[in-house]
Amino acid sequence: MAKQRTRSKVKLTEKREHSFFGDVLKYFDHAAQFLDHDPALMEQIKYCNSVYRMRFPVKNDEGNIEVIEAYRVEHSHHRQPTKGGIRYSIHVEQDEVMALAALMTYKCALVDVPFGGAKGGIKVSPRLCSVSMLERITRRYTTELVKKNFIGPGIDVPAPDYGSGEREMAWMADTYATFYPTDLNSIACVTGKPISHGGISGRREATGLGVFYGVRHACSYKEDMDKLGLEVGLEGKRIAIQGMGNVGYWAAKFFHDGGAKIIAVSEWDGSIYKEDGINPDELLKYKQETNGILGFPGSVDLEGGPGAALEVECDILIPAALENQVNSDNAHNIKCKILAEAANGPVTPEAEQVLLKKGVLLIPDIFINAGGVSVSYFEWLKNLSHVRFGRMEKRYRATMNRNILDAIETASGTKVGEESLGLINKGADERDLVYSGLEETMINAYDNIRNRMMETKGIEDLRTAAFVEAIDKVAISYQHLGIWP
Ligand code: NAD
Repeated sequence: MAKQRTRSKVKLTEKREHSFFGDVLKYFDHAAQFLDHDPALMEQIKYCNSVYRMRFPVKNDEGNIEVIEAYRVEHSHHRQPTKGGIRYSIHVEQDEVMALAALMTYKCALVDVPFGGAKGGIKVSPRLCSVSMLERITRRYTTELVKKNFIGPGIDVPAPDYGSGEREMAWMADTYATFYPTDLNSIACVTGKPISHGGISGRREATGLGVFYGVRHACSYKEDMDKLGLEVGLEGKRIAIQGMGNVGYWAAKFFHDGGAKIIAVSEWDGSIYKEDGINPDELLKYKQETNGILGFPGSVDLEGGPGAALEVECDILIPAALENQVNSDNAHNIKCKILAEAANGPVTPEAEQVLLKKGVLLIPDIFINAGGVSVSYFEWLKNLSHVRFGRMEKRYRATMNRNILDAIETASGTKVGEESLGLINKGADERDLVYSGLEETMINAYDNIRNRMMETKGIEDLRTAAFVEAIDKVAISYQHLGIWP
């Protein structure tokens, strides 16, 4: 492919060809035919419970007033609190936030996180805003949520999403605490906070790590890999990733460290390709220095802008930017064998039909990007219990393991080697426990979805199976509330 020297025009997202929430409703309706719940109950689950659209004034850096549009949508209150990230993007709109809130409900159900689904959005471009303006907007947004009872450790707990991160969560927690200074649990009003401010080790990388665990497990089924003409395992698999933000970078890093090759990456300025593999850490450093990825040493800039990386021939494609990226315009050009939806809604229903016909194994967003909410759940538990995971038992475990080893060495008369000693002679710290809890979560959830697909006549794809599994769990939860028989 020819080398493209000029940066492509910034074009962060196309206008959707249809409603995103409409897509989620379509998936719901398709899954509903495989379930036998009361139609009224299905109606209750399907739509959003509370939609809060707000407009508030904020003084900009020049001293002028700007009116900011923002949203918080709580999709389902079958479990409380509700949970979901806050998106900072100039493209935020109500339909999108409603869709993302609904996906959160199903995601939480799939990974057995006891929350209802929610999502927030602020119509602002973080890249074009000063830090002080972003802080004023975030604090005012939190105040609006407090005023309408849309935030609280037992009510609704936001987290980061596209365009937001630890810094924004710390501002939110701090603003909330000024309204409830005597609430011992106030720090649990948001997750994804910096560790110094009540966060948890492993949350930053959680979504990317969850993508890695989920895909690695999918690649362990020999009969599924045989169908795709792939070897079992990740070693040497060729991967293309769209988006080098939080989710994309961490996913790239774990796949790279796990033996796969990152052959193509795209960002807002374009796509790059390197057959013998891109080092994600070097690319991240280059991106931070140049504010883009084009021209990354040793790689080729692809023609076709940010969309080009999606169309390279690869084993695993990971869209990790935004929704609507694989649509009816480019679905026919996609040449991957596995597509893992790290972003929310990156593939439209029309494109999905094209991919399924081609035999692509499509691993749906409501499962594969659930690592973030899983570890958010651990953070929320940590905040409510007011103690770091591992603090009470780490040393005890290490001593116990040492004692067992000593007894075995004495009885057998042989010494354990240095390398094994290092692995055995330790207790688990917070990060070890978070990684282990996340790995268990992703493996369990994948097996449940896959089993549902294998056992239900008529279900032939993982998305349908995931929706059936999730809706069934939400319905059962409602039934246990005693409202439905
Ligand atoms: P982020 O803002 O950290 O990163 C997104 C990256 O994508 C940015 O670097 C941006 O420049 C890039 N990008 C934007 N448009 C692009 C395009 N057309 N082509 C290539 N790159 C483009 O956001 P994130 O937190 O990584 O979220 C990414 C996706 O993952 C979103 O769909 C989000 O809803 C989903 N998600 C995030 C989390 C989380 O924990 N952060 C959890 C679950 C799902």
